[in-house]
Amino acid sequence: MTTTFTHHWQVYGHDWAVAHLQQSMAYERIRHGYLIVGAESVGKETLARQFAMALNCTDPERKPCGQCSACRRIATGNHPDVLYTQRDSETSPLKIEELRLMMQKLALKPFEARYRIAVFRDFDTAQPRAQDALLKTLEEPAPHAILILLAKSLEPVLPTITSRSQVIHLRPAAVQTVYETLTELFNADEDRARLLAHLSAGRMGWAINALNNEEVLGQRAGAFDLLINILGMTRVERFKQSDDLSKDKAALITLLELWLSFWRDVFLLAENSGLEPTNIDQAAALDQLKDRMSGEEAATAVSTTRKTIGLLTDTNANARLALDVLLLDYPGI
Ligand SMILES: [Zn+2]
Repeated sequence: MTTTFTHHWQVYGHDWAVAHLQQSMAYERIRHGYLIVGAESVGKETLARQFAMALNCTDPERKPCGQCSACRRIATGNHPDVLYTQRDSETSPLKIEELRLMMQKLALKPFEARYRIAVFRDFDTAQPRAQDALLKTLEEPAPHAILILLAKSLEPVLPTITSRSQVIHLRPAAVQTVYETLTELFNADEDRARLLAHLSAGRMGWAINALNNEEVLGQRAGAFDLLINILGMTRVERFKQSDDLSKDKAALITLLELWLSFWRDVFLLAENSGLEPTNIDQAAALDQLKDRMSGEEAATAVSTTRKTIGLLTDTNANARLALDVLLLDYPGI
């Protein structure tokens, strides 16, 4: 085993971050603002939840113990002093009203725990004006209040927020660490662990979720079949597909991200790069595509797919229009 796991924190692949937070607790140097930054499914919310458990755990020695009433309720999201922000939908921003409401809740004394903790999911989606709602609390926090902000990147976060928070960057874990975690701690069989570790690109949360949820791999296979079907379709048929697929924007973004990883692999193979593709379980389909198009066509598909994902994450974009353009741009086979 290449990593030493801190076993009572159920956080994998981010040992240094856990050690850092443990030390701040041991030396009574707990900050009021934390900003956890990292890619989707890398483990931000898991770290936030485990930290909240550690802060409010009632076990005298092992924090978080995972057994006491506080730990168990925080783990299941049912503790009155650990609050989470909500968005209207997966594609809408975190709104100023929600942030103001959270500041009001945070100002109240804890009902029962030592700390009242607010976890801000997708903080990077909040507009600057909305982010401002946190400043007063971050400048003059109540002694019991702790804010944990989660963001995919640092760029959209105001410098005034960043400078008042302890920033913790979570990097993707090594593929080998993901593999070892799945086999040794989750008893996954070796072949499955190898595939999931590979596909995860180091996002531990994704890998653990995919291990427990058979549908994740099934969805991928479905996404690849659909792409190959579309490449064989006429313009009219592609428009019809676009109409169907653009109805659920969040699902569409997930689908396009899978297609993007698929196109990258086709490009690597078409260019004879010698690099191993990501989607090692889809080798037959990848080979089939590689033989039918040039590296240039694959490269164009990579860039147009990436551009469309960028457009869709902007809330004002017309999903139908963006997808029409993309599907017409894809090569035929
Ligand atoms: Zn506990």
